Amino acid sequence: MNLEGKQLIGFTVSSEGESVFQAPNPSTGETLPTQFHKATKAELESAAQKAQAAFKVYRKKSGIEKAIFLEKIAEEIEAIGDDLVQIATAETGLPAGRIQGERGRTTGQLRLFAQLLREGSWVNARIETAIPDRQPLPKVDLRLMQRPLGPVGVFGASNFPLAFSVAGGDTASALAAGCPVIVKAHSAHPGTSELVGRAIQQAALKVGMPDGVFSLLHGSGTEIGAALVQHPVIKAIGFTGSYQGGMALVKLAANRPEPIPVYAEMGSTNPVFILPQIMKEKGAAIAQQFAASVTLGVGQFCTNPGMIIANKSEGYQPFLTDLETQFQSVSGGVMLTGGIRKAYQEGIAKHLENESVDIVAKGIEGTGFTAVQPILFKTDARAIGEDHTLSEEIFGPTSVLVEAESKEEMLRIAETMEGHLTATVHGTPEELVEYADLIDLLEQKVGRLLINGFPTGVEVCHAMMHGGPFPASSDSRSTSVGTAAIYRFTRPVSYQNFPQALLPEELQDSNPLNIWRLVNGEFQKI
Ligand code: NAP
Repeated sequence: MNLEGKQLIGFTVSSEGESVFQAPNPSTGETLPTQFHKATKAELESAAQKAQAAFKVYRKKSGIEKAIFLEKIAEEIEAIGDDLVQIATAETGLPAGRIQGERGRTTGQLRLFAQLLREGSWVNARIETAIPDRQPLPKVDLRLMQRPLGPVGVFGASNFPLAFSVAGGDTASALAAGCPVIVKAHSAHPGTSELVGRAIQQAALKVGMPDGVFSLLHGSGTEIGAALVQHPVIKAIGFTGSYQGGMALVKLAANRPEPIPVYAEMGSTNPVFILPQIMKEKGAAIAQQFAASVTLGVGQFCTNPGMIIANKSEGYQPFLTDLETQFQSVSGGVMLTGGIRKAYQEGIAKHLENESVDIVAKGIEGTGFTAVQPILFKTDARAIGEDHTLSEEIFGPTSVLVEAESKEEMLRIAETMEGHLTATVHGTPEELVEYADLIDLLEQKVGRLLINGFPTGVEVCHAMMHGGPFPASSDSRSTSVGTAAIYRFTRPVSYQNFPQALLPEELQDSNPLNIWRLVNGEFQKI
């Protein structure tokens, strides 16, 4: 496979920087052969200038033109073939099957955004027609719709080298909105990033998109990443990663002369509440599914259930035994990077030192350079209430079982919880009604509520919310998965008393795009 290790700046490639890096293979510990040049400030400047120029053209592209672009990107990614699977498995340690599945999710989400654009109603058009003779004052003609923000900076995530990286959800939603994108590649998978970046470059060329609609830069987060956030051309940031990284970007963005929004998804513990009756009836099955969910993908999902709260009622002891048995039979595996493994080991060591925490069971140690072992801990509601660090995320195949003595203790845990991406309640139909107050409390703490399921497995669709109150994300009002993600990169514009010919097609009286619009308070397509 022919990797160049260069920046992709619009339709050109560039390697001005003398500083280089190589990605390690987390399974073997070997260094992969390609040397990647780190982007210089001059290369960032060039990408930014091109993005600004491209925005003038790209913001005017129709929904159908942007849909064709997104569909072409999906085709070009598929055309890379097995090289993409090979390099992604080597750089991440993720198995080939997972990478193939993720490639399908990536191309699927590009095509889903294309569908949204072709349908067209996403612009949320609202029309209030004038009433010139209204008393005491005439009513003006006002028409509102979503318009693109401007060039967007995207930070690829380590744990989704395709679906949340160069052509992932952030890039797809920004391009769909009409915004050029500059990606800061994740340093853990630069080769995967280059192949996907080239696919986007090719797609842009083939369907006649402007030079600069997409660029890809390699380099350190604190250097080129920070400079990207601070660049005046950039109007928003999409990020998935650590709390520390996300908050660093939020602060940089807020301190710019022109502050910009940072949509940072920073992970969470995703508490799972097990109510007494269901635990008695289905404890064995829940324990089995829970162990599988915690260790799926070596626990490297932001939706990993890192806390399970069980009522110490009649079914508790058998449930605990089932959890122990299930956890002993699950295997660890290779983590994405040495840094992520180190953070996991440090989190585990902290729990081991904590007198309020016991080990329930350890799983089977994984094999490979960055391999780890799954582990399930146990504590009680009092300890969780007193020691906030016990409910913080440890990224990896681990979880904490919290024993609650009563419904009131469960409610107290929910009450003191910080923001999470998800919360789950397992209960029989009767006890779900009885625990309606718990569910109501949880709704105030998370972006997605689940009944009798597990939070890993995030459906990419129109109704998905992947985000949540701080610290799960930096802005609880938006999602980073699914088509609603497009609204992170748009802003509403009102057109007052505009002649028809000057209005965007979406707002013209004849509704030439045949989209749904709110006209004088009524949804209609006419
Ligand atoms: P990360 O350290 O947050 O890095 C993500 C991206 O942000 C990288 O491109 C990184 O650049 C950049 N970055 C990090 N700190 C920065 C800063 N202060 N200023 C500017 N850019 C910065 O995440 P990671 O390397 O993927 O994994 C580390 C930890 O993040 C994991 O152990 C886990 O706890 C968490 N994580 C969470 C999620 C989630 O789902 N929310 C996903 C993955 C990881 P570099 O190239 O220089 O590293």
